[in-house]
Amino acid sequence: MWIDTHCHLDAAEFNEDRTAVHQRARAAGVALCVIPAVEATNFDTVRTLAHAQQDVYALGIHPLFTPQATEADLAQLDAALEAHRHDPRLVAVGEMGLDGFVQSLQTSEALAKQQIFYRAQLQYAQHHQLPVILHVRRSADLLLKGLRKTPVMGGIAHAFNGSMQQAHAFIDLGFKLGFGGALTFERALQLRRLATQLPLSAIVLETDAPDMPPHWRYTTAEQRAAGLPQGRNEPAELPRIAKVLAELRGISLQEVAAVTCANARQALPRLQSVGDFHHPERCSALPLRGFGWHAHTRGLGRTCESQWR
Ligand SMILES: [Zn+2]
Repeated sequence: MWIDTHCHLDAAEFNEDRTAVHQRARAAGVALCVIPAVEATNFDTVRTLAHAQQDVYALGIHPLFTPQATEADLAQLDAALEAHRHDPRLVAVGEMGLDGFVQSLQTSEALAKQQIFYRAQLQYAQHHQLPVILHVRRSADLLLKGLRKTPVMGGIAHAFNGSMQQAHAFIDLGFKLGFGGALTFERALQLRRLATQLPLSAIVLETDAPDMPPHWRYTTAEQRAAGLPQGRNEPAELPRIAKVLAELRGISLQEVAAVTCANARQALPRLQSVGDFHHPERCSALPLRGFGWHAHTRGLGRTCESQWR
């Protein structure tokens, strides 16, 4: 049994075959997917999708969406967290955080706005007693600083690729670190070192689908220049990504499954109350069409290269 702690199943990339993608995930043993929102306009989408698929969701404003986000979006987030506070499938505030990589977000004005949204969402997490799902990209120290100022109950540092010291700082603040497709690349040396040397109790697995394809789905820059599209990641890939982790650590796949699922439940305590995992055939007839995510999301997704640079 597996838990994909981060997948954007509402993304437009899945519009054509969302039901099949979900069935493949369940058939592969992925019992639960965590679907994080990225902006106010997809709060309803992720919630409806999570309920339809018997998955779980998080509500938040992603740092890449802060340039167009407004105060009203923050108020909407607070109101949604309040309105759905008894929903056991609402498991965290996220995806939120800070991005230190995307060029256009590094001006002093853009950085200040990122900070405003980060701090406000930490306060909501504190107030609503929810963990957070953090976007960490060249921003670990700033995120840690914010967490020390506004402590929350913990959560997940998603697609973590910082230093060993930063990793331990997150762990000390009650966080688990999310690992996914990036660790399948042999040249991801620092990431592989982290995934091998950190205590297994600190690790959760995620695909970040449709982004972050593992190497067997990855299209190189040359292939893309020749017209091939970037490979799409999906939650059914999680066990194969986990196998790479098991091999790196020299432990069994069963141990990776058992421990990372327990870790996910610890990071997102509400997962414990949605533990009645259902059988794949039960979700086959669910109506999953028409869930879109905005076209402007396209092109903003992480690339594998950026994760280990
Ligand atoms: Zn994400």
